[in-house]
Amino acid sequence: SDPKIGIYGLGTMGAALALNMADKGIAIAASNRTASVIPEFMERAGDLAENITAVDDLKALIDALPKPRNLLAMIPSTGPMDAFLDDVIPMLEAGDTVIDAGNADFHSTRARAARLAEHDLHFVGLGVSGGEEGARHGPSMMMGGTDHSWSELKPVLEKIAAKFDGAPCVDHLGPDGAGHFVKTVHNGIEYADMQVIAETYDILRNGLGMDLPAVADQFDAWNDGPLGSYLMEITAKVLRYDDPETGKPAVDVIRDSAGQKGTGRWTVIEAVKLGQSATMIEAAVAGRAWSAEKPLRELAAKAFGEDRGALDLDVTTIEAALRVARVLEYAQGFRILKAASDEYDWNLDPARIAEIWRAGCIIRAKMLDDISAAFRDGAPEGQLLLASAFRDTIQDGIPALRQVVGTAVAAGLPVPALASALAWYDTMRQSRGTANVVQAQRDFFGRHGFERLDAEGAHHGPWWD
Ligand code: NDP
Repeated sequence: SDPKIGIYGLGTMGAALALNMADKGIAIAASNRTASVIPEFMERAGDLAENITAVDDLKALIDALPKPRNLLAMIPSTGPMDAFLDDVIPMLEAGDTVIDAGNADFHSTRARAARLAEHDLHFVGLGVSGGEEGARHGPSMMMGGTDHSWSELKPVLEKIAAKFDGAPCVDHLGPDGAGHFVKTVHNGIEYADMQVIAETYDILRNGLGMDLPAVADQFDAWNDGPLGSYLMEITAKVLRYDDPETGKPAVDVIRDSAGQKGTGRWTVIEAVKLGQSATMIEAAVAGRAWSAEKPLRELAAKAFGEDRGALDLDVTTIEAALRVARVLEYAQGFRILKAASDEYDWNLDPARIAEIWRAGCIIRAKMLDDISAAFRDGAPEGQLLLASAFRDTIQDGIPALRQVVGTAVAAGLPVPALASALAWYDTMRQSRGTANVVQAQRDFFGRHGFERLDAEGAHHGPWWD
């Protein structure tokens, strides 16, 4: 039968998505810039090759597709995507859809959608989460684009998506950049969750003095309870691996400097531009940046010493602290989604987003089922922090978080994400904060004026009399 969709870019992710489609009985056409990759790909496809029309170049790929065409590119979403669009726009016809399934900056996606619309073409920004394994067997997907493109793609995407209780983890979330924005914030939450887990590893191993197998067992035990999540599960696994070359635990031979490609940073930048701040994601981005400054850390360790006190904490307290930290990290992430939805008129549905994150994606976690239910019940002001379903978790968990952060801080063990969660919570629950002092300072040095509690309009302080 005619291919339903064309895939361009048979790298790690493109090949996995293509095989997933072929596996689900979807006829596809596929190609790659470097044509020599194609025969290897077809060999890997084995029996699935009967659903794949492999062609040597972009022109042949476009010619192989019935109209209106759907062409999915899984190539770097930066310069290569613009060069790709330069090539394909003249080959396409009104009504065709181009899909960018990579990790794009949503501003680029918006600009590209506007560019294609001038040619009566549709541009979809499709956030795909789950890594290679997810792409091959069922990713979580966040689609931004037109209704026309969604009606074209829905049957394909619903078939290849991860399923939660049978429901596909994909939806049309909004126009143009909405899907890529939601994917960006997904990754921001992923950064925060990874940082919190890493801080907890430090507390258990170095603060409580547990050995690695015991730390792994603890993560496994938490994974069986309300803290269950993919990241918790793989952390337990990672801690059990030994390095084949030295026989030492793998985590003990891996350099303590983490890379970042940009989605965490983008989340922070966009949050700030929207007048928001996601402190836990900021702490995670900072954590990666600090980790890369290993030479400075080595010098500072020599200058100031690395001593840290032992921690006196029990694991039940740490579990309660982790639960509330996870609620706060999601609350911050969804806060940014709401701000962007208001700013760009996307009408994002937080309950639906939580639902499609329940399976397939890297931040899949048991708690997401409760989060989607909490949003469905109507969280006050659309804020997870105020949702009645999480009231008990927050009220019970905050004393535990306070104890964990306080003990770690007193012992000199860094917990930037956990500490920032607490600072955010404590700030948000003060109806009267400290910005009155900041307003007075601004007026003093710059005549910026301030508002009064008891009168309308702009005012100046007595320092200007
Ligand atoms: P790979 O490096 O495995 O593959 C890159 C693909 O892009 C290859 O097919 C390559 O073709 C093609 N390509 C590179 N430059 C160009 C160009 N200038 N013109 C045409 N084609 C080009 O990368 P991934 O599959 O990992 O990543 C692809 C996208 O998926 C990225 O946007 C990434 O952010 C995103 N992504 C990746 C995830 C992951 O876990 N790896 C998860 C979610 C999204 P050639 O063979 O000719 O070099």
